Amino acid sequence: MKHDGRFGQFGGFYVPEVLIPALEEIEQAFYKYKDDPQFVAELDNLYRNYAGRPTPLYYARRFSEYLGFNVYVKREDLLHGGAHKVNNTIGQALLARYMGKTKIIAETGAGQHGLATAMTGALFGLETKIFMGTIDIERQSVNVHKMRLCGAEVVPVESGTGTLKDAINDALRYWTSHVEDTVYIFGSVCGPHPYPTIVKHFQLPIGVEARAQSLEIIGKLPDVVTACVGGGSNSMGIFSAFIADQDVRLVGVEPGGKGLATDEHAATLVAGKVGVFHGAKSYLLQDEEGQVHETESISAGLDYPAVGPEHCMLKDLGRVEYVAVEDEQVLDAFELFTKKEGIIPALESTHAIAYLVSQKGKFPKEINVILNLSGRGDKDVGIVEKHRPVE
Ligand SMILES: *Cc1c(COP(=O)(O)O)cnc(C)c1O
Repeated sequence: MKHDGRFGQFGGFYVPEVLIPALEEIEQAFYKYKDDPQFVAELDNLYRNYAGRPTPLYYARRFSEYLGFNVYVKREDLLHGGAHKVNNTIGQALLARYMGKTKIIAETGAGQHGLATAMTGALFGLETKIFMGTIDIERQSVNVHKMRLCGAEVVPVESGTGTLKDAINDALRYWTSHVEDTVYIFGSVCGPHPYPTIVKHFQLPIGVEARAQSLEIIGKLPDVVTACVGGGSNSMGIFSAFIADQDVRLVGVEPGGKGLATDEHAATLVAGKVGVFHGAKSYLLQDEEGQVHETESISAGLDYPAVGPEHCMLKDLGRVEYVAVEDEQVLDAFELFTKKEGIIPALESTHAIAYLVSQKGKFPKEINVILNLSGRGDKDVGIVEKHRPVE
């Protein structure tokens, strides 16, 4: 069945007239191919043999002993490229090829979605342009270099503050004049319809696998599933498989920056107000005049002033709880988890770890938690070193 792109009062497509046919073309192709046996077989083959699916569900023994309850880790950090992003870019790039398009574009902030898109552009032989703010290009020079190695062109965006939201604006603007041969590969479950639905679809394997692995390894469903929320794609991927299981608590964790009492936080669902941004209605960080806030978190991958419309609906329905953790908690959890498990988590994913640390002594000991480890933290070692020098 076709989704209309509305999640309660949220979602929709608030875009310039010229983009509507392009979005409709993508929507039609998505519904035409998503269950097509050849498309499904090709996607499955790439998930397995290029990306590295299925990812393990791993019992974190020493971390669990420390917390006093059981934590099972869904290892999306083991995927090619080091994060869940590749699930989505492979899916959308394959769709672009089935649509007969030869060029893809994408936006990126921290560079993770840009890199995942550049990798899949190379994989499919598609001409790739990545729009990136000039400030972010400076901050993420290694990812910029990797994207260029994959053959992608990195387009510097100087407008605004030279960060993610400006890159999205420029990518959308470029797309309006290149819709015939170009597909815009969006990075999370936000933006105009049909992106929230498409991106979620390609992230569903996280939850489908985790649910089956839970039944096999724990012998029952988990009590709690937790994941970090930026735009909301990794969390939507894992939560979706458990939404109908009313006894499974779902907890999304947002960045609280230096603290919710200051202006420098990015906890959109915890603290945002309803507005329209980048083509969709959602909770949004904005001031009294409706100006969109610059967000500031220790993890660039969670720095986005909006959030996926389905999350907004799930919040209002009370089906998912959304909480925020602060940068200092994240740094503590990063060090703790790495010492206990020998796994360096991405700072984004570490928000969910920090939430679990905050529940030490509160959750009963028989409780089973699935933690979605959305990515690995090699990219973040330098940032942590700056805040917490190793002696
Ligand atoms: C991009 C990113 C996120 C945030 O994006 P979502 O769409 O909320 O999943 C989280 N974790 C990692 C490792 C990322 O690269």
